Amino acid sequence: MGGRLPRPHGGDVAMRAHMRSGATTGAATAIALAVALASASATAHDPSADPASTEAWTPVPPVVATPIDAAPSDAVVLFDGRDLSAWEGERGGDASWAVSDGAFTVVPGSKGIRTRKSFCDIQLHIEWRSPAQTAGFDGQDRGNSGIFLQERYELQVLDSHDNPTYANGQAASIYKQAIPLVNASRGPGQWQAYDVIYKAPRFSAGGGLISPARITVLHNGVLVQDDTVIAGTTEYRGAPTYAPHGCAPISLQDHNAEVGFRNIWVREL
Ligand code: MG
Repeated sequence: MGGRLPRPHGGDVAMRAHMRSGATTGAATAIALAVALASASATAHDPSADPASTEAWTPVPPVVATPIDAAPSDAVVLFDGRDLSAWEGERGGDASWAVSDGAFTVVPGSKGIRTRKSFCDIQLHIEWRSPAQTAGFDGQDRGNSGIFLQERYELQVLDSHDNPTYANGQAASIYKQAIPLVNASRGPGQWQAYDVIYKAPRFSAGGGLISPARITVLHNGVLVQDDTVIAGTTEYRGAPTYAPHGCAPISLQDHNAEVGFRNIWVREL
């Protein structure tokens, strides 16, 4: 793109930082200055340089259609408002939660459900709604469900609108591990959205942990988990742990609350 004002290059920035720092002379300072000057020389604007020499034409990004209010064209649609064919009961068999009006709702006592397909690294979009009626339900008993990445790591679903509970157990927490940056909750009975970037943990052939899972979450468009490291399984009691596993389903929690879900899709990364 042409017409932009030139930005200060690396050498300028390093020089200014150095001058602001008030550093005195010495071997380290001399080296820093030499590096900055060399960088400045290498990256200075050259009016004779061919602008095409810094253009990259490959790889060409695949085209993805992005219709308004619908899943991107390369997404795996996990619920399109009609049926739970992409899901099964967490103990096998068909998913038995209630489908109506383009959404499905937890049937308390029926146990959780999970995707038939397994996933590793994903981008996930999911919308949820806690019950409008809150009388008699407080804390963890108000609109509790959860989205378990790889069946192990819970992104909490809870009515956290004017409903105090432990902060690492409120909506958009990584359950008992990571408090959300802000509380972006809407009121009970309103649809809310999570947009998630999830990187699965890596394990060595011997079963050792190479890298933990990481998660970024937007809650109703607001950043609430910023590349958060997941410490292991999200346990109700005790510390998180890691045990080696491969790609695994996404599961949704039955926590005895009639939480609704709709518009669920995944892009495999
Ligand atoms: Mg939960």
